[in-house]
Amino acid sequence: MAAASTKYHDVVSGNNAVPVPFDLDDAMMMPENVEATAQTVTRLVSDMPTIDYATGNCSICMERFWPSEGSCASRQVSCGHVYHHDCITDWLLNASFYSCPLCRHQISR
Ligand SMILES: [Zn+2]
Ligand SMILES: [Zn+2]
Repeated sequence: MAAASTKYHDVVSGNNAVPVPFDLDDAMMMPENVEATAQTVTRLVSDMPTIDYATGNCSICMERFWPSEGSCASRQVSCGHVYHHDCITDWLLNASFYSCPLCRHQISR
């Protein structure tokens, strides 16, 4: 009886050592990937034409466009939709693929 009880105990403690499943999502979030993505997004956005007097609102932050430069400039995506420079940059950094937030038009590199 004593031997059987010991064996049962060993099986239970063995079950506690469950191997952690390999997580593909974690493996794809490598720091060098983040840096490469940031460089690609920066280049994509700076390739977009700026619109000096865009009308309407940015669909990402809902703020009106205004004549400005640099990080506040209005950038036109190749589909024709216009967003703030910072807004479309943040959007592309967080998107799983490069596309227009409104119409999903693919933004080519
Ligand atoms: Zn915006
Ligand atoms: Zn669009």
